[in-house]
Amino acid sequence: MDKIIVNGNKSKRLYELAKKLLDLSIKQIKCIINFNKEISIKIIVITRKKFIKSLDENFNNYAIMFMEDGNIYINQDSFKNFDLEFCKILHHEIIHAILYNINKNIDLWLSEGLATLLARNIVKDKANKINIIPLNKLKKYFKFNIDYYYSAMLYIKYLYVTQKEILKELILSNMDVKITKKELVSFLLTNNI
Ligand SMILES: [Zn+2]
Repeated sequence: MDKIIVNGNKSKRLYELAKKLLDLSIKQIKCIINFNKEISIKIIVITRKKFIKSLDENFNNYAIMFMEDGNIYINQDSFKNFDLEFCKILHHEIIHAILYNINKNIDLWLSEGLATLLARNIVKDKANKINIIPLNKLKKYFKFNIDYYYSAMLYIKYLYVTQKEILKELILSNMDVKITKKELVSFLLTNNI
């Protein structure tokens, strides 16, 4: 049985939301890669002060964060409202945690791209110019900035449509894949993405 544990807060609403998002995320990931492993996710609710202390300065605005120890941390102040934004970020972080259960060493760009794609939490206006980052740059040094998230998501869309087997392998084994920016752009134009 896949399970979710919430520590530090007895909010039934949070538990139920997280459980629903866990089930949804597992279904979504199983459309890409089939796995039999039981998933176990821990959510730890902490105070805002602790939350900020444990994060890089860049993340001060975030209320929920998946950390390298495999757990998801939530700032307790973010409980005031379970709005759509909160749900989308929790969904995103739960996807990171599932991927970590599948492969602890999954590449950062891949994990961020999948989480962004499946939780649909970055929507860029088509009128805005999209700055596509070359894949080798994304792989070498993933920056926590919208162009990087958006680019990672597009490379994953490309792999999902054209080379699903390679995407599966990538999730499991961090193998190398080369996609040029030109290839990606022509895919986006032909598919009207
Ligand atoms: Zn993320």
